[in-house]
Amino acid sequence: MEHTLRSIAAAMGLVRKVAIGCVCWIICISSASAYKRLAGDWTYQASPLESHIVVCEKGVPPGTATIIKEAAAKWNYARFKFVFDADSCEPDSTAFYVYFEPGGRDPAYTTTIKSGTPENQLSMCKMRFNADRNWNFSLNDPQPNQNDLASVALHEFGHCVGLDDLPMSGPVMQGELLLGTKLRELQADDIAGRNAIYGPEF
Ligand SMILES: [Zn+2]
Repeated sequence: MEHTLRSIAAAMGLVRKVAIGCVCWIICISSASAYKRLAGDWTYQASPLESHIVVCEKGVPPGTATIIKEAAAKWNYARFKFVFDADSCEPDSTAFYVYFEPGGRDPAYTTTIKSGTPENQLSMCKMRFNADRNWNFSLNDPQPNQNDLASVALHEFGHCVGLDDLPMSGPVMQGELLLGTKLRELQADDIAGRNAIYGPEF
């Protein structure tokens, strides 16, 4: 009996410690900027990010490109915007390119390429969505077993802006999004990260 009580007390102590730890964690995150920058950006351009972006709709439902473009547009503000050329599945070497292809572990990944001097100049952004995933290609809520395309695209364009993954949940730039959930609007931390690169709104 005594042993049992001590065990329960010990367990309660553990629970209390964990709870306090959680409170601290939440306060720490809400009171400080968390965004992380990639090692490159587009600030060297006169009109940053006003470059050709091409979406390939091959193998996906009509309207997919629209969902992707609407997600990109949420990053737009006075200092830059994403500009899209006509949809095509024949990218040239200078185009930003967004496409679906089967295979791989992650639902999506974005490759940013740096070139030029100084070395922090981004020159290309290539976005690949995993065609093997069960995507929600609509703006309805995702089913429990679906990846939400609008949310994932918004996150991937954050990499094109020049922001890195974050190890916590909350901002769009969080490193993972659970199946069946959505995160389709920029959060204060995402906006702070973008503005830290390109300047405040005006
Ligand atoms: Zn990411």
